[in-house]
Amino acid sequence: MHETHCHSLYSGDVDKERGSSVDGLCKRAVELGLESIAVTDHLEIQQTMGNIFPPLDNEGIKRDITAAKEKYKGVLEVVYGTELAQACHDMEKTEKVLGEYKYDFIIGSAHAVRGFPDFSDMEYSAVSDATLKHAWELYLSELEELVDWGGFDTLAHITYPYRYFMRNGREGIINVFEKGRVYYESILKKIIRKGIALEVNTSGLRQGTGTTFPHNDLIIFYKELGGKMLTVGSDAHYACDLAKDIAPTCDALKSFGFSSVVTFRERKPVFHRL
Ligand SMILES: [Zn+2]
Ligand SMILES: [Zn+2]
Repeated sequence: MHETHCHSLYSGDVDKERGSSVDGLCKRAVELGLESIAVTDHLEIQQTMGNIFPPLDNEGIKRDITAAKEKYKGVLEVVYGTELAQACHDMEKTEKVLGEYKYDFIIGSAHAVRGFPDFSDMEYSAVSDATLKHAWELYLSELEELVDWGGFDTLAHITYPYRYFMRNGREGIINVFEKGRVYYESILKKIIRKGIALEVNTSGLRQGTGTTFPHNDLIIFYKELGGKMLTVGSDAHYACDLAKDIAPTCDALKSFGFSSVVTFRERKPVFHRL
């Protein structure tokens, strides 16, 4: 089993008391018998959450991951990853950091759209349905903008806003289960054409939304469109959640007709049979 999405104490949204070091995550991965772990701390290009995401200690992460690669050699493959968010909000900054740090694996994501805070941080009671609908449409267009740029390996949690709309009783505004195929057709076709993987993020299964991000119908749609490259990650922010629900999710993917999942090594895909 492979974990492709998790966060160490280097991520600004990890609680300092409960979080794990890179080594702590690797130790847990060995306990769980994982074959590989990509540690993908938040690299938020636009500081949308005020002080929640302090500047990332890129050097510290690189040092810790390099040490872990050495320490766990032959036992666990440690992948030097990052979750690059809102890359297109400041391309100069994005290109600079990607030029400086040679990641094995880059997750592309969007947590916020221009003019709005992170979807996790919005004041939902103060925002009208029309404004939320507008933020959602912006989100889809910004995901497409990210894919058009394409400087990453997998597109993460493509239904991210749904979790927060749902928690605030506003999911009816987007009807993502009914309209998902319409919303995502263009984005899915583009990632397939460009050789970017689709992430199946299992965090929703343990966080009460009852679904992976994206949900099954969109994963099946991706397959129908010709998609073959899936990364599966828990998005664990704590060691106790590491690899959570990856095994049953892989079983589901197999039942949908997928024959493999993918990880990345030096930015190149490696396929693993399901
Ligand atoms: Zn994310
Ligand atoms: Zn994440």
